[in-house]
Amino acid sequence: MQLPREVIVGKGTLKCVPEVAKRLGLRGKALVLSDSICYDVAGKAVSDFLTESGLSIDFLLVKTMNKKDVLDIESQIKKLKPKVLFGVGGGTIIDAAKISSGRLNIPFISVPTTVSHDGIASPLASIKGSDKPYSELAQAPLAIIADTEVIAQAPWRFVISGCGDVIAKITAVKDWKLAHIEKNEYYGEYAASLALMSAKLVMENAELIASRKDEGLHVLLEALISCGVAMSIAGSSRPCSGSEHLFSHALDIFNSHHAMHGEQCGVGSMLSAYLYKANWQRIRNTLKLIGAPTTASELGFKDADLVKALEVAAKIRPERYTILQKLNLDFEACEKTAKATGIIS
Ligand SMILES: [Zn+2]
Repeated sequence: MQLPREVIVGKGTLKCVPEVAKRLGLRGKALVLSDSICYDVAGKAVSDFLTESGLSIDFLLVKTMNKKDVLDIESQIKKLKPKVLFGVGGGTIIDAAKISSGRLNIPFISVPTTVSHDGIASPLASIKGSDKPYSELAQAPLAIIADTEVIAQAPWRFVISGCGDVIAKITAVKDWKLAHIEKNEYYGEYAASLALMSAKLVMENAELIASRKDEGLHVLLEALISCGVAMSIAGSSRPCSGSEHLFSHALDIFNSHHAMHGEQCGVGSMLSAYLYKANWQRIRNTLKLIGAPTTASELGFKDADLVKALEVAAKIRPERYTILQKLNLDFEACEKTAKATGIIS
């Protein structure tokens, strides 16, 4: 089980970089991985604070982030030999930092500039162009420094996506329990409870989050980080990724247009909750309150494409048993489900 040693969340927390570096005993060379926008927003400040702490800094500013880019980062790490890698950016930068540092066995510190999904604190990562459309085990961050002042500068849509990804845990945990009961799969009560509690906190604080106040962002960040920790405890994405995530992955593969990950998972969670005969209306109402999409057209998909994605979702990852594998719905049944939840008309 890998858990972060330091988690610092709040307004202006970037300035805590020197004390975190000191507490963690960081010395020698650090590599800061970012893109040009995130470097201006936070990467430069992180680098300056690290220099102040007596570390020598190298930067790596990337433009794209696919399988080849990650290999390039790895060859830079081999060349520069940093003792630690800082990932300063959104989900893809953090994922690339996680994968490359994990492969080369150096610690990484997560400095998120957005809150679009739970990867900011999890030990899992996905990268474009890899054989699998879902996240794989990499390594957990040694520390997470999340500055709400920095994160508040990102477009609101990232917050919406982050909320959708957390709310999705309601059905992810149901799927995990189902796999335990019907397939005798390992089920961890603690990890499941942590993921579920995060979802409940975001649901209960939806109005506060929608008000765009710092406290709301704080709730969401803590929830996303707790979800990451839940995955570290479980040693897999099981507490945080069920049928709603399979649906989102299916949309990604099936249609070149992508809405944001958490937006798709939120809608997926409405569908899964309906299939479980659970309170899908509460999920929809919360998503609406935050301003998240709740229909195919709001997600930017044609009705028929969304139904097709639901139909093929179970085949994306057959070993991950969920309500979709259990019910094995045909196109008509998927269409009925999407209509009953108002996702298509
Ligand atoms: Zn997710």
